[in-house]
Amino acid sequence: MSAEPEESVVQQGREGASGAGDERGPRLEEQRGGAGAPDNFQRLWTPHRMAYIKGENKPTGAGSGDGCPFCEIPGMSDEDGLVVARGGSVFAVLNLYPYNSGHLMVVPYRHVADYTDLDEAEYLELAVFTQRALAALRKASGAQGFNVGMNLGLVAGAGIAAHLHQHVVPRWGGDTNFMPVVGHTKVLPQLLRDTRQLLADAWPAS
Ligand SMILES: [Zn+2]
Repeated sequence: MSAEPEESVVQQGREGASGAGDERGPRLEEQRGGAGAPDNFQRLWTPHRMAYIKGENKPTGAGSGDGCPFCEIPGMSDEDGLVVARGGSVFAVLNLYPYNSGHLMVVPYRHVADYTDLDEAEYLELAVFTQRALAALRKASGAQGFNVGMNLGLVAGAGIAAHLHQHVVPRWGGDTNFMPVVGHTKVLPQLLRDTRQLLADAWPAS
């Protein structure tokens, strides 16, 4: 895994973020440290080059061959695809545009849009992987709560509606602060690759 960090600070989320001042920036790099340390989740997110980051990662159509990222990710290495765990029918992957640090998604390999489209092996393993995601996030990050669920359909807010995915978003007391509220900027405390490694290490054995 190429670990050359490109330490330009990126503002995550909506554009127009300008009111947050200049506290972002220099303090990031010196805090780069050992994976697994308790303060790992206190760094600003400073993404570096990853094969996975290119453009919007949005499909051009509803088919699996239309650039659906959830169809492409399983063909990548764990590091490039940010895959945390792979099962027989589903996989767990970090969200590139996380709502919070450690935001995981559990995704069937098969390109299906609706929960009722899942066969038995898929929905059973989706449930098992959701449990393991919770366990891994608790172990790796001490998450105090979670938002778990899926948005089915564009009108429900699904970013990639054609390929179902279950969100598992860890929460901590105080994880909403002035940055998203005032600055319209979501500051993410950790490199996604480091997060992926932490969660992969914390993932329960089957
Ligand atoms: Zn797909």
